[in-house]
Amino acid sequence: MRYIPTIGLEIHAELKTRSKMFCSCLNDPLQKDANTNVCPICMGHPGTLPVANKDAITNVIKVGLALDCAIAPFSKFDRKNYFYPDLPKGYQISQYDLPLCEHGKLRVFDRQIQIRRIHLEEDTARSQHQTDKTFSLVDFNRAGVPLMELVTEPDIQSSQEASEFARQLQTILRYLQVSDADMEKGQMRVEANISIRPERQKEFGTKVEVKNLNSFRSVEQAIEFEIARQTESLVKGQQIRQETHGWNELKGETFLQREKESAHDYRYFPEPDIPPMKFSKEEIEALRACLPELPQARKDRFQREFNLTQKEADALVKNKDMGEYFEQVVSELGPLEKDQLRIRTKLSVNYMLSDLQGYLQATGTGVQDSHFLVTAENFAELINLIADNKISSAAAKSVLKEMLRTGADPDHIIEERGLHQISDAAQIEQIAKEIIQNNPKALEDYKKGKGNALQFFVGQMMAKTKGSLNPETSREIVARVLTSL
Ligand code: ADP
Ligand code: ZN
Ligand code: MG
Repeated sequence: MRYIPTIGLEIHAELKTRSKMFCSCLNDPLQKDANTNVCPICMGHPGTLPVANKDAITNVIKVGLALDCAIAPFSKFDRKNYFYPDLPKGYQISQYDLPLCEHGKLRVFDRQIQIRRIHLEEDTARSQHQTDKTFSLVDFNRAGVPLMELVTEPDIQSSQEASEFARQLQTILRYLQVSDADMEKGQMRVEANISIRPERQKEFGTKVEVKNLNSFRSVEQAIEFEIARQTESLVKGQQIRQETHGWNELKGETFLQREKESAHDYRYFPEPDIPPMKFSKEEIEALRACLPELPQARKDRFQREFNLTQKEADALVKNKDMGEYFEQVVSELGPLEKDQLRIRTKLSVNYMLSDLQGYLQATGTGVQDSHFLVTAENFAELINLIADNKISSAAAKSVLKEMLRTGADPDHIIEERGLHQISDAAQIEQIAKEIIQNNPKALEDYKKGKGNALQFFVGQMMAKTKGSLNPETSREIVARVLTSL
């Protein structure tokens, strides 16, 4: 019997606002000293009043618009009651039946995934459980930080689709500059609901929720694990219970945390201390009008405008700054005729996605960082030097390395290190003749028809000139000299 997996995601993202959700404490994820960004409001002292952060609300609406959601004309906050040491008030201010955004969608690998809702709530404090002590520590700096929660419909069909959904959402949050959404830092956290059903059965099976997945890899692995575990249970004739599981990264397993609680366990009721919100069509349209170009639109445009393949456009668009740097580089290539522009754009993409990308990943920098030293103008100049055969590609790689290290102009580096490529035919012919004369044995081999003799000569020419010959021209010329002998 074949089983079909069904997956729905719940994704939390911390919003990048100046202050917290309901008080004026700083929302500073970099704050290292525990319990410094706290006040009576976010500590839940009696008699305090929360005031909603308008930027946080605006940010969630922007996300909703970017994901084709309907924005609620009327919305409110609700109390979600539960008792936990990291929740100072004994309840979380969240949204229950009137979320800010509903009915959105996101295209993933050519399938449309429906988004049920996006709402706004507050983050909890951070608990630190000491393994060797009899107490736990709580840091309330994170308590009350604005948190958006997105819930998908059970539309996702595989672990890869789930992680790609999360990746695309992360990119969109970054384009909108509403969240850094760094999973390692806990700024974006994924929960996956997973069920399986026999191929011939229409209704979904009972789902298991896996909490706190902190990397794209864990999202995939946890889903794979659950599909396998549930399949095994069903094959054995056992029933799946609706449960909440955690994810053990080291063991690569999910484990039972608790039986699932239902909405009524939380005793939701409207937050009496915060007035409900109303949004006019004009307000919403004004926000829509200031959305930036989004990844999908940019990807389509890059393919169209610069003749990029889907893969190239994808890679450049993933990182907003990289895409913008690419466009600057292309505009700095200079006024060029169409064919040349196409060739040089392609060359730029190749160098960006290999050498440059490698450097950025290895050093953890971005092209917009202040210690990134290569201006778009210098990058374009390097590309033009390569395209004009002024330097070999081997030399270009080492020039780029030095540019990244020092920020120097490529022309300067080439001049200083004598890396100019020799493309002059007469000069190359001279060198070819010399090499042939000095290697009579290889000449014999060549005459006997040994194929690799030609390559040997080219290699010798390169060695003699420290790689500064144009390889194609050298090959052509040495072949011509040899046939004329
Ligand atoms: P609950 O009421 O238990 O929280 P919801 O219906 O609100 O469940 O859905 C929570 C999440 O679980 C959503 O992302 C939804 O898409 C997903 N989901 C719902 N039913 C299933 C199912 N049978 N299999 C997998 N995911 C599901
Ligand atoms: Zn506060
Ligand atoms: Mg929630």
